[in-house]
Amino acid sequence: MEEISVRQGRLMTEIKLYNTKTRKKEVFTPLDSKDVRIYVCGPTVYDRAHIGNARPVIVFDILYRLLREIFEVDHVRYARNFTDVDDKINATAAERKAAGATGTLEELIRERTEETISWYLEDMGALGNLEPDHAPRATEYVQEMIDMSVMLIEQGYAYEAESHVLFDVTSYENYGSLSGRSVNDMIAGARVEIAPFKRNPMDFVLWKPSDIEQPGWQSPWGRGRPGWHIECSAMAEKLFGKRFDIHGGGLDLAFPHHENEKAQSCACGEESDFAQVWMHNEMLQVEGKKMSKSLGNFFSVRELIDQGYPGEVIRLVFLGTHYRKPMDWTDKKAREAEVTLRRAAKLLSSDPSNILDLKAPQEFVDALANDLNTSLALTFIKKYLKEGDRIKLASSLTLLGFDIDVLVKNFASLEPSQFKNEQMEGNALRSCGDAVDSRLSELANQLLVRRENAMLTKDFTTVDALKSALVDAGVSVQMSKDGVTLEPAAGFDASKLEDLL
Ligand SMILES: [Zn+2]
Repeated sequence: MEEISVRQGRLMTEIKLYNTKTRKKEVFTPLDSKDVRIYVCGPTVYDRAHIGNARPVIVFDILYRLLREIFEVDHVRYARNFTDVDDKINATAAERKAAGATGTLEELIRERTEETISWYLEDMGALGNLEPDHAPRATEYVQEMIDMSVMLIEQGYAYEAESHVLFDVTSYENYGSLSGRSVNDMIAGARVEIAPFKRNPMDFVLWKPSDIEQPGWQSPWGRGRPGWHIECSAMAEKLFGKRFDIHGGGLDLAFPHHENEKAQSCACGEESDFAQVWMHNEMLQVEGKKMSKSLGNFFSVRELIDQGYPGEVIRLVFLGTHYRKPMDWTDKKAREAEVTLRRAAKLLSSDPSNILDLKAPQEFVDALANDLNTSLALTFIKKYLKEGDRIKLASSLTLLGFDIDVLVKNFASLEPSQFKNEQMEGNALRSCGDAVDSRLSELANQLLVRRENAMLTKDFTTVDALKSALVDAGVSVQMSKDGVTLEPAAGFDASKLEDLL
């Protein structure tokens, strides 16, 4: 009896989600409450996932769990693809082959994608994420991509040129509506791949030719391979039909990837086809800085786990920031998360009676239902912890994807210093500082070289260009006859140094 009333109560829960398409927070009503469908763009499988890649996975895992809580487990389907055909994968396999790996390029590509997929599932599992109901691989849906391209050509939205198939962006009047840009803005702002056979520089590839070394499939346009955007359109339609509920991904995918997916899928159907709600999570930084390999603050999920951060701690840190806000990964937050989990585990281990089957309090579900307000949800967790309410605490943590048995086992008797490498923060910041220093001295040398050349040619254009780019990155530039001194000044942005030279 109680179970029924809880269920009915849950169905009354109003979910509100921010829809990128309308730029509004809207009440979410599924097309079919017995088959709620969510598609999230998955990884291109050529390397370990970095911690920024984990953000959409955790965000949409929370949404998946919330939908299952409200519409029931069997009434929700979640699809997340693997892009296993991509030039980056080919390049990685070619590098391996050049380094002496045995096997054909095709075998090495296969080996690379298989290995990366298994790493991905293992790493995302370690962060407490459920596996989706569907994990389609692009290479298994190539026929659907060809069929869709054929249909787009037939209907006048795409054209063939030099063994490529291109989507004509001027043929679809709502092109740009998702990301809020006009075609002219896009041309002005984007690094557009110029090709002589494109009618418009923004036209994007649905199909491209493959040379003998590259993976390829037979098509009406010769042997080739699909472009990235058509993959998700074809897979989503095959699994979910022309219309489904939610499409998610990182904000960096809104344009061009999602804009192009939407254009392809809506062009040959109706404007209300494809995803009803588009959701985008903001990006992640590390210790206040944009992640970058040259700054030394670029970590894979696996590296973080190997450095001693338990997956549960990483997950709790991620949940502390609302998904539409930029998130900063800091060691301080990890320490705080660890303290919370340790306290929770101690409380939950104090009485072994069964507390696992209970439903999370409605106020807690409501916080999540309000556009996934995980940071508010965590304030409830802290409140239940303070009040010593084991039942509310356990049921809420379970809904957030924490396994209570594992928490009790791994955290209840954990001493603060046991689990992690205390040097982590220092190392990360130090290597970050070292990387900036060496980059600046490289740039100072380059400026000197340019100045010497300019003395000879009397043309100072390249010197001035580099100087103003440095000033723009917040670097103070002092040039004298003794040399060049570069130092970070107000407004310094290390990530801008990367693009110089
Ligand atoms: Zn996609």
